[in-house]
Amino acid sequence: MKVSTLQVGPIMTNCYILCDEVSKVCAIVDPGDDGAYICRAVENLGCTPVAVFMTHGHFDHWNGLAEVLETYPDLPVYIHEAEVVDGRGSDLRFPRLGEHNQRYYKEGDVLTVGNLVLRVMETPGHSPGSVCLVTGDTIFSGDTLFRANCGRCDFPGGDYRKMLSSLARLGRMEGQYTVYPGHEMSTDMNFERNNNPYMRQGMAQ
Ligand SMILES: [Zn+2]
Repeated sequence: MKVSTLQVGPIMTNCYILCDEVSKVCAIVDPGDDGAYICRAVENLGCTPVAVFMTHGHFDHWNGLAEVLETYPDLPVYIHEAEVVDGRGSDLRFPRLGEHNQRYYKEGDVLTVGNLVLRVMETPGHSPGSVCLVTGDTIFSGDTLFRANCGRCDFPGGDYRKMLSSLARLGRMEGQYTVYPGHEMSTDMNFERNNNPYMRQGMAQ
């Protein structure tokens, strides 16, 4: 398994390409901007994309999606349905795609990318339908968990109490994980358990 990080867009969103090097297929997590650049990166990896996974529906995580779908029109795009609206979408809501592409996932769903198996965890707080994706000892945490920080909860649909519960749930997962967040640098779960004031507050409750 190989994870490539691309920082895209004005808010420096992390787009990840999760590649199964054995079967040479990949998933794109949060194509936040500059879809052409993302597609070039996929091509350079020599992997065929099989899905797009959205951690949540904020604009800075999907602004590159239309361009990605121009290159790969058959990709299924997964997101929690609570993030989706009909029409053009907005800064905070994901515009529902046509049936050909649109897929939804929820707590406990299991997805595959070649030989990789991902599990969906609902982690509301930053937005109602925020999810984390867990594969092996790796977590894509979206805007739920950042290094020593967490995502904002003051947007409409945000909920600080739910954020604390979501962070506590992540912190209580057994074992050590590499964490790839929606913004800024990657981290690991033990560091967060010890240093993240929001996770610590959540776990103390
Ligand atoms: Zn966000």
